[in-house]
Amino acid sequence: MDTDGVPPLALDIDGTLTTAAGPIDPRAFDLLADWEAPVVLATGKSFPYPVALAHYAGVPETVVAENGGVVLVEGEVRHAGDPERARAAYRAYVDRGGDPGFTLEGTVNRWRETEVAVDRSRADEALLREVAAEFDLEVFDTGYAYHVKTPGVEKGDGLAVVADALGVEPSAFVAVGDSENDVSTFSVAGRSFAVANADERARAAADVVLAAGYFDGTLAAVERVRG
Ligand SMILES: [Mg+2]
Repeated sequence: MDTDGVPPLALDIDGTLTTAAGPIDPRAFDLLADWEAPVVLATGKSFPYPVALAHYAGVPETVVAENGGVVLVEGEVRHAGDPERARAAYRAYVDRGGDPGFTLEGTVNRWRETEVAVDRSRADEALLREVAAEFDLEVFDTGYAYHVKTPGVEKGDGLAVVADALGVEPSAFVAVGDSENDVSTFSVAGRSFAVANADERARAAADVVLAAGYFDGTLAAVERVRG
């Protein structure tokens, strides 16, 4: 779908629609509400976060959450990944003295349906990666949290599911993101932009690395592709 030259968007949230301090940049609500083509919110956050953002922006709840573990499009929810294995790995990490920072009951994890997140500022990364590997899981570093997840579950696959449901070619999408969990999105979308605060993997995978960071970078990207 290309609405008068306006392409559909696949937008990461944290680091991409936010300010450097963490909250959503208020201008992001206008972008979401005013964009004339579909917008997919593709995030590592648990399912309710992007759904709530879409709801309060007044746009369709078209969401890829948990790094591809949960997809919502046209009212249908699909899951990928093994949540029990992720929780077992979390418990093993804690049993070995690892500090997870985020509890399973707190708001970061309590609605997480397919993976587990650990506080990046508190975790023992080496121990977490060691335990995850023993459970045949992998660790994604989004710059905000470590995500213990099932290998092969990726945001990019979620975007392909959404594109199919919407009847849009995946390559029609323009993606914007900031971290390694956006690399798969960048490879599925036709055009990709890394904001200036992006990590090395996202920068290497993107077609364009923007001079501006956070939502300023995203605004620059969408202005460039608006046509
Ligand atoms: Mg991000």
